[in-house]
Order: sequence, then C-alpha cells, then structure tokens
Amino acid sequence: MKNFDYKKSLGQNFLFDKNIINKIVSSINPNEEDLIIEIGPGAGALTKELKNKNCDKLCFEIDTRLKSILSSLEDDKLKVIYEDFLKVDLSKYIDKKYKNIYFIGNLPYYITTAIINKITKEAKPKEIVIMIQKEVGLRFMAKPNTKEYNSLSIFLQYNYDIKKVCDVSRNCFDPIPNVDSVVLKLIKRPYSIIPNKEEEFYKLIHDSFVHKRKNLRNNLKNYDLNKIENTLKTFNKDLTVRAEQITIEEFIKISNEI
Ligand code: SAM
Repeated sequence: MKNFDYKKSLGQNFLFDKNIINKIVSSINPNEEDLIIEIGPGAGALTKELKNKNCDKLCFEIDTRLKSILSSLEDDKLKVIYEDFLKVDLSKYIDKKYKNIYFIGNLPYYITTAIINKITKEAKPKEIVIMIQKEVGLRFMAKPNTKEYNSLSIFLQYNYDIKKVCDVSRNCFDPIPNVDSVVLKLIKRPYSIIPNKEEEFYKLIHDSFVHKRKNLRNNLKNYDLNKIENTLKTFNKDLTVRAEQITIEEFIKISNEI
C-alpha cells in the first residue's frame, strides 16, 4: 500500500492475493441472524468481501490510522471498533440476539495464541477461520508422539474440529513477511468425552507440559500421583511417560479421576 508506514510491531502484512481472499471468505456461510467478527481488518482485504454476507459484521482494529480506509466500508451492517482486541469485553459487543458467531481474521502473529484463547473462553463461536503462521498451524493440528504436540494442540482439538483451508505463500502479502502461512477452519464441537471440570482439565494439560522434556511424575509433583498412576495403568502407561505421549481422551480420564 503506497504511503503507508507498516508497523511490524502490529503484525501488519496486508494480504492482496484475490484467490486466497476468496478462499478465506467463502469458507464461512453465516445466515442473516448470525454475527461475523473480524480481527485486524487492516486495509480491508477480507472486510470488502465480507460485505457480501447478509449478516452483521463487527471488526476490531487497533490502528486508528486505518480509519480513513475502513470508514468507507462501514454501513448499517458493518461496524469497525478501534480497540485492542485482547482488551475488549466481548460480552459488551455480542448481542444475545445473534444465533451463531463466526470469527475471521488474518491474525497478527505476535498474539495468535492469546487471541484464540480469548475467543474460546469468552465467546462460543460456531466457526473460526484464521490465517496463522504455518509452524503454529502444525502445532494446532498436532497428534500425540510428535514434537509439535503441546498443551495448545489439546486445548484446541478438545474444543474444535480443525481443518486446513489452504496454504499461503509469503509472497501473497505486502510487505513480504519472513514466514509462510496457513488458513485453518476451527469448527466448534462437543468432544466425544467430557471432563467433569473443564478448568481443572485445562490446568492439568498446562501443568503436564510445563517442562516438555520432563515426565509426568516430575511435572505433576503437586497432584495425587497415586491416582494418576492408577489411571495411567488402565492405558498400559505409567508416570515415566511424557505429556506428548498422552492422548486427549487419556488426559480427560486422568482429570476426572483426580
Ligand atoms: N486483515 C488484513 C489483511 O488481511 O490484509 C490485515 C491483516 S494484518 C496480518 C493484522 C492486522 O491486525 C493489522 O491491521 C494490525 O493493525 C491489526 N492488529 C494488530 N494487533 C491488534 C490487536 N491487538 N487488536 C486488533 N487489531 C490488531
């Protein structure tokens, strides 16, 4: 974009590839009574196309310098809020009248995880379509016994069915970032089994991965290790395993026993 001083600190790499823009926008199909929330509209690459969707749209952009571009896109059904998405109280903006919430965005990579955590905990989106750094995408979708599998993989796969929409080359952006990207679609689902206490399940996975190279006996010192060991035995495992060897179902079972 001519005469625009891109801020690297805000992850400002604007997408210009029409084919990718279409793939992202056409991957959601909301109804009139739904709400789309776009995070970081930038110069409106996705926002312009989202205008064709017949539902309300709310965009959160931190950089007020983009007002001059984005204000021309605003109308009865599309509003831009100039605030740090991480600091907004989403409950103030999500009216109960909406049937389903869809999140969409080419995320500023420096806060990808914080954004996903916020969305998952503060809203109950039907779907999330996000562009993120490719390596981070691999972690989101990682399976047990791989080096990418971590507490975030479990948190996300417990909450969502995750599908890849497309890979995106760094050359599709201005300015060109030094990483490639991937677009993922996260579809909210009830998991096959449910923890008795969700917050305790999240804490257990967080604590289990605190020191990635350590086994469960060391990472979970402050838990009732006898109970954990008894549950592990039912999957032919013991306390010498590392968290990356435990499946989501197994973590849920452990969390239900402690
Ligand atoms: N959606 C545009 C596109 O696809 O070209 C811009 C994407 S750019 C990767 C990320 C955008 O997020 C930038 O416009 C940046 O200013 C904005 N942003 C960065 N941090 C933000 C935050 N905390 N809250 C809201 N927007 C933020």
